[in-house]
Amino acid sequence: MPNQNERTQYLLPSWRFKQISELATRIFIEEEFFRKDFDTVRMLESKDINVLKYSKFSEANLKKMQKFNVSFWKEGLCLVQSDSDGKHKLKMIAYDDTKDDIHKFIILMHEFSHIILEHSQQSVNGEAEANVFTTAMLMLQMIFMNKKLHDFVEVHFKGVKSDENCA
Ligand SMILES: [Zn+2]
Repeated sequence: MPNQNERTQYLLPSWRFKQISELATRIFIEEEFFRKDFDTVRMLESKDINVLKYSKFSEANLKKMQKFNVSFWKEGLCLVQSDSDGKHKLKMIAYDDTKDDIHKFIILMHEFSHIILEHSQQSVNGEAEANVFTTAMLMLQMIFMNKKLHDFVEVHFKGVKSDENCA
C-alpha cells in the first residue's frame, strides 16, 4: 500500500472509517465478489471504468498519465475527468500487470476506491481512505474465500509457517 509521507495531513475520523468499511461491504455483496467466477476487471468495466495494463503503455505515456493521476503510488493509477456538474464522465484505471493476483486485486481495489469515493488530486485523505477500502475488501475476501486467505498467506508471509490444515 502507498505510504503517507507525501501527504501533508493524515486525518481520518472514525465515522469515515466506518462509512468506508460499510461501503466496501455493500459493494462486496452487491457485486458478488464471493462468486467463484468473479472477475475484478469485468466488474470494473461494468461500471464504465476503462481498465488498462501498464504493459500496454510506453514509459513516456505512463509518465504523462502520472501527472493527472489521483493516486499516490507506482503500482497503479487512476484518471477521472468530471464534467461541469461534477459527474465523472471518463474513468480509467491502469495497473502494474506484472504483479501476482493478490497484488493486482489490491491495486485495482485501491484505484477503484479513488473513483467511487470521488477523490481528486487535492483530496487530503485520499490515500488513507483508499487503504481503508482496500483493507476491508481484502478482509472480506479472506472471510469468504478460504483459498484466497491461503494464497495471501503464501504471498505475503513467505517463510512464516502456515497451518497445514488451513487449505
Ligand atoms: Zn492512491
